[in-house]
Amino acid sequence: TNALLDVRDLTFSFRTYAGEVQAVRGVSFTLEKGRSLGLVGESGCGKSVTAKSIIRLNPEKPKGLYKKGEVLFNGRDLLKISDREMQKVRAQEIRMIFQDPMTSLNPTMTIGKQIVEGIVKYGDKTKEEAKKIALDTLALAGIPSPEDRFKQYPHEFSGGMRQRAMIALAMAVNPKLLIADEPTTALDVTIQAQILDLIKDIQKQYDTSIIMITHDLGVVANIADNIAVMYAGKIMEYGAAEDIFAHPSHPYTWGVLQSIPPEDTSNREPLHPILGSPPDLFKPPAGCPFAARCPYAMKACTQLYPRAYEQTGEGHWCSCWLYHPKALSAVNPITGQG
Ligand code: SF4
Ligand code: MG
Repeated sequence: TNALLDVRDLTFSFRTYAGEVQAVRGVSFTLEKGRSLGLVGESGCGKSVTAKSIIRLNPEKPKGLYKKGEVLFNGRDLLKISDREMQKVRAQEIRMIFQDPMTSLNPTMTIGKQIVEGIVKYGDKTKEEAKKIALDTLALAGIPSPEDRFKQYPHEFSGGMRQRAMIALAMAVNPKLLIADEPTTALDVTIQAQILDLIKDIQKQYDTSIIMITHDLGVVANIADNIAVMYAGKIMEYGAAEDIFAHPSHPYTWGVLQSIPPEDTSNREPLHPILGSPPDLFKPPAGCPFAARCPYAMKACTQLYPRAYEQTGEGHWCSCWLYHPKALSAVNPITGQG
C-alpha cells in the first residue's frame, strides 16, 4: 500500500503484580503520507499507550508485552527492528511531543545546542549547517529573535514559547511523522489555538504526517483528516473528520461530542460529562466495553463484542450493535435522525 504507517491488530499489555492490564486491544489504522489522524478518547483509554507502542516507548519485557500485531512504517515492521535502529527512527523519522515540553527539552543545555545535536547525531549535516537549520526552525515555530533564543536555556522560555521550542526541536530533523500527545492541554485557550495553528502550518510546510492525541474532539476538528475514537483499548469509531462530526455514530462518540466545552469561554469544563467510568482493563468485558455507561445498551451488548458496521461516508465505520440490521434503531442525538 501507499501508507506511511500501517498499524495492524496492535495489542499491548502491561504486566503488574495485580495481573495484566490490556491497554491496547487490537488497534488497526493506516496513515498516508502528509495526512493527519486524531486519536481521541478519555484519559486511560489507551491512546497514549497506543502511540508509545508504535515507537516502542513503553517499557518492554518483562513489564510491557506486545501480544500481537504489526507496525509497518514505510513497509518495515518497527516491532521487529533492533533497539538501536528504533532509536534512530525515533531521532529522525518519527518524533513525539508531549503535554509537558520538559519531557523533551533538556534543562541543562541551551535550546540551540539541543536542536543542533539532534540534527547532527544521525544525519550527515555539519554543525554549521545544523545551526542554520536550527535558527530557521525556531523562526518557523514562531519564536521571535531566534539568534538570542538559540543561546537560552528552556527555563528562560515562557510556557507557550517552550511549547514552540519543543516543536522546533522535533521538526528540525524533518521527521516523516509527528506524534503529538495532548500538546496543548495545559495551555490557556488563546495559546492553545496558536499552537494548534502552528502545528497545522508546520504540517503543510513539511508535508509531515501527524497523529494528534487528545481527549477533546474540538482540538482535532481543524487539524485531523481522519479521526479514531478510542475506548477501553479499542477503536470504537473511525472515519473522515467531516463524517465523524456530521454523522457521529457510536454512542460513546455522541457522549464525547456532547461533553465538548463551549468555545467562547475560558471555562473548559465539559458541558455534559459521560457518567460512570471505563471498564477495568485487567479483565475487559467480553461484550461492548461501553455497555455499562451506554444509554442504548441492549442485552446482546454485554455478551458479544459488536462487529464494525459501515456508516455514512467512505471508510467510516463504528463498532456498535445499534447498526445490526435487526436492531431497534436509536435516535442519533447529534443529527436528530433515527
Ligand atoms: Fe451501546 Fe450496545 Fe452500541 Fe455498545 S454496542 S455502544 S452498549 S448500543
Ligand atoms: Mg495520555
